[in-house]
Amino acid sequence: MKNTKYVFVTGGVTSSLGKGIIAASLAKLLQERGYSVTIQKLDPYINIDPGTLNPYEHGECYVTDDGAETDLDLGHYERFLNIPTSQANNVTTGRIYQSVINKERKGEFLGKTVQVIPHITDEIKHRIQILGKTGDFDIVITEIGGTVGDIESLPYVEAVRQLQWELGEENAIVIHLTLIPYLAAAGELKTKPTQHSVKMLMQSGLSPNILVCRSEHNINDGIKRKLALFCNVKKQDVIQSLDAETIYDVPNLMYKEGLDRVVLEKLELDQNKEPALIDWNDFVTKHKNPKQEVEIGLIGKYVELHDSYKSITEAFIHAGSSNETKVNVRWIHSEKLTPENVVDNLNGLNGVLVAPGFGDRGIEGKIAAVQYAREHNIPFLGICLGMQMAVIEFSRNVLNLQNANSVEMNEDIENPVINLMEEQKNVTEKGGTMRLGAWDCDLIENSNVYKAYNKTQISERHRHRYEFNNAYKKQLEDAGMVATGLNPKTGLVEIVEIPSHPWFVGVQYHPEYKSTVLNPHPLFIDFIKASLKQSKK
Ligand code: GLN
Repeated sequence: MKNTKYVFVTGGVTSSLGKGIIAASLAKLLQERGYSVTIQKLDPYINIDPGTLNPYEHGECYVTDDGAETDLDLGHYERFLNIPTSQANNVTTGRIYQSVINKERKGEFLGKTVQVIPHITDEIKHRIQILGKTGDFDIVITEIGGTVGDIESLPYVEAVRQLQWELGEENAIVIHLTLIPYLAAAGELKTKPTQHSVKMLMQSGLSPNILVCRSEHNINDGIKRKLALFCNVKKQDVIQSLDAETIYDVPNLMYKEGLDRVVLEKLELDQNKEPALIDWNDFVTKHKNPKQEVEIGLIGKYVELHDSYKSITEAFIHAGSSNETKVNVRWIHSEKLTPENVVDNLNGLNGVLVAPGFGDRGIEGKIAAVQYAREHNIPFLGICLGMQMAVIEFSRNVLNLQNANSVEMNEDIENPVINLMEEQKNVTEKGGTMRLGAWDCDLIENSNVYKAYNKTQISERHRHRYEFNNAYKKQLEDAGMVATGLNPKTGLVEIVEIPSHPWFVGVQYHPEYKSTVLNPHPLFIDFIKASLKQSKK
């Protein structure tokens, strides 16, 4: 059983400073030094999980092996650390209140008045320590979502304060991430916003142990001294975090600034060996020095917010690096795509990826994109809804089932080639009720997917309600679209391919969730390889 230590990461001044990347980079350095580390995200919003949120609100919804619908920062944690996360790694205010209220209904508070302090804060402390109490981790890093000073964050700050008091500062430390803005007119970096944000934290009884300061310009010794003095930390505990060329540079930058060293010192842990980052740096070097380029069209309906497809674009970076290829993404809005303008919009692409999604907005554009890729022999990867659109396109244009569709779009359609899954038929609540998480899949030999994975049994993560309708399987296969991946228990079609096409793969699951720096996803590697081949034609 390990004596787990805790690191809390709070944010000040503004949102979007990259707490998730700082947390993941620190975790990576500690992992490289031989510590077992995991990262948790606490989100102060009232939704139970982000599963019911529109991607415009919150970016992509990331799915874990155990079927949790989570914040996209968990994707960064997995991509950096190369270890899976789970439901315990993401907790929202909604979930905290839900468990407290459920306990109240069961009478577990024995007639007491249920209050934010102690009941909500106790539940937060319990959730923070779940991962630590597994005994699997030397260090648990907990990122507190939002910005210090938000009303929603107060119970979290109080819970961290109590936990630090209970565990002792050698077992629980606070890193506060802030912004040092540069005023061009004055030619100066300004520390005041950071002073105010630390003051706000201190009003809640919490003092940061380490300041990490985002900045566009070098923070000199004088500024560090000033920050240290007014924020009540030592000068060596002020760490600068300059803007990086890529997020994958941040572990190296944080190592250079000594973030991992001061963390270990404060937690009274051995420095162990220096972090080598050998495979990591090999990836970064290849990523930064590509020998060739491809252009992939990403067809989706949330393309205005690139974060909606975070795991997909990161998977491109991983697969690009392993192919020593720069993957340029052409963002294409499915709603703006029609059979008339599809050639103009997709012209010159070396690969087409039709993205996941829900509802009928933009689906005709997605179908037009599939048709273009199929007829022009452009490598095609359809993910989830993208795979379903590939089946619909083939049914309409090759099988001549003009009104083929998914029952998601039209319940009474004559040819429901994509159908509601049997177990979904009585589902009425939207939250957490899809087919979620890891499911096994058997691959057919000699398929593109078999060649990519180089094995016949895989497990991939899912998030959907609708499925390939097996009543059309024979017809589709006779016409040239074959099922190359099946669920071993239910026979559910998880993958379709067109063997006469250079590379046409539709997957019902989400391969992007499992792509990491050290384990780029085989399907993305192969898709980029096929696109490279196409580019040389
Ligand atoms: N809307 C589709 C379904 O529920 C696809 C979901 C997705 O793309 N993640 O089956």
